[in-house]
Amino acid sequence: MRVLVTGGAGFIGSAVCRQLVLKAGAAVVNVDKLTYAASLDSLASIDGMSSYRLVQQDICDQEAMNDVFARWEPSAVIHLAAESHVDRSITGSAAFINTNIVGTYNLLEAARKYYDGLPSERREQFRFIHVSTDEVYGSLGPLGCFCEDTPYRPSSPYSASKAASDHLALAWFKTYGLPIIVSNCSNNYGPFQFPEKLIPLTILNAIELKPLPVYGDGSNVRDWLHVEDHAAGLIKLLVDGQPGEKYNLGGNCERSNLNVVTQICDLLDRLCPGSAARRSLIKFVPDRPGHDARYVIDASKVYRELGWQPARTFEQGLVETVEWYLASRTWWRCARTEVYDGSRLGLLATQH
Ligand code: NAD
Repeated sequence: MRVLVTGGAGFIGSAVCRQLVLKAGAAVVNVDKLTYAASLDSLASIDGMSSYRLVQQDICDQEAMNDVFARWEPSAVIHLAAESHVDRSITGSAAFINTNIVGTYNLLEAARKYYDGLPSERREQFRFIHVSTDEVYGSLGPLGCFCEDTPYRPSSPYSASKAASDHLALAWFKTYGLPIIVSNCSNNYGPFQFPEKLIPLTILNAIELKPLPVYGDGSNVRDWLHVEDHAAGLIKLLVDGQPGEKYNLGGNCERSNLNVVTQICDLLDRLCPGSAARRSLIKFVPDRPGHDARYVIDASKVYRELGWQPARTFEQGLVETVEWYLASRTWWRCARTEVYDGSRLGLLATQH
C-alpha cells in the first residue's frame, strides 16, 4: 500500500504518517506546503526511512498535484492538508478559502484524472479519505449529538470552508465515481500539536505560569479525541470503509472548556508544583465571535460497522499529553518564541 498523505507535517497528519509507516507497514508520500503549523520534527521517527518521502508542495498547485500522482502512483489518499484554526479564520479567511476549498478541488481533480487512467483492479482498491470536522454541523443545544445525516450549519469561516470541501468530495463520488470516504471528527488533542489551540496553549501557558485565557464563561462543550486514536480510525476507514459513506469519529467524551483547563491546572500542579495553584491563573476573556456552544459526536456507525473505538479515555490521554509537553520543550520552544507567542487571535475590531 502506498498512501499519499496531504498535510502530513501537521498535528494529525504526522500521527497518520507515523502509524502508516511504523505500524501498518505502508509506504507514505507526504505532500505538505510546510506552513507555520507544520513541524518536520514531528516526523523524525520516520524521516530517512525508504518507505517515507516528503514532497514540499501546495495542494492549490494543480500541475504539481498531477505530477505527484503520476510520479508516486498511490493506492490511496488521506487528505488532511488544511488551514485548521478557527480564530485565524476569523482574523483572515483567504487562506482558508484557498487551501480548504480550492486546494481540495485541485486534489480531487488530480485524483480523478489519475484514477480514470488506472487498470480496473487498481481502481477497485483505490480510496480517497477526505478528513473533516464535526464543526460543519454547527452548534448543539444542551442535549443530542451529531449523526452522519445531521444537516450542515457551519458557523465560522473555517467550518464553512470545511463544509464546502465535504460537499465537493461527496460530489466527486456521486458524479465521477471517485471512491471517496468522508470522516467528520471531533476536537483532537495529544503530542505534537502546534500551541495555538485550547489544550496545548493552556498547557504551555500553565507550564510558564502565564495567564490562562478562557473564552466567555468557559461553558462551551467539545468532544475530545486523542490524535493517535483518530489516526488509527482513519487507517481503519482506509482499509474497511465504504466509498461514498460519511463516518463520524469521536471520543465519546464531552467536557466544557473550563473543565479541561482546570484539569490541566491540577495535573501540572501535581507533576510540576509552582508556588500557587494554577487555577488562580485562569482569566475569562471576551468570547470568540460566533462561538458554537456544544459539539458531541455519535460515533456508533463506525463502531458498529467497522469496529473502531478510541483506545484511551480523555483523562488517560490528557496525562500523557501534559507529560509529553513537559518532556518536549525543545519541540515547542521554537514555535512559541519564533512563530506564535500565544497572543489573542480572532477578535473583531469592535472587541479590542
Ligand atoms: P494542522 O494545522 O496541524 O496541519 C495542517 C497541515 O497542512 C500543515 O502541515 C500545513 O503545512 C499543511 N498545509 C496547509 N496548507 C497547505 C497547502 N495549501 N498545501 C499543502 N499543505 C498544506 O492541522 P490538523 O489539526 O492536523 O488538522 C488536519 C486535518 O484534520 C484538517 O483538515 C482539519 O480540518 C481536520 N480536523 C482537525 C481537527 C483538530 O482538532 N485538529 C479535528 C477534526 C478535523
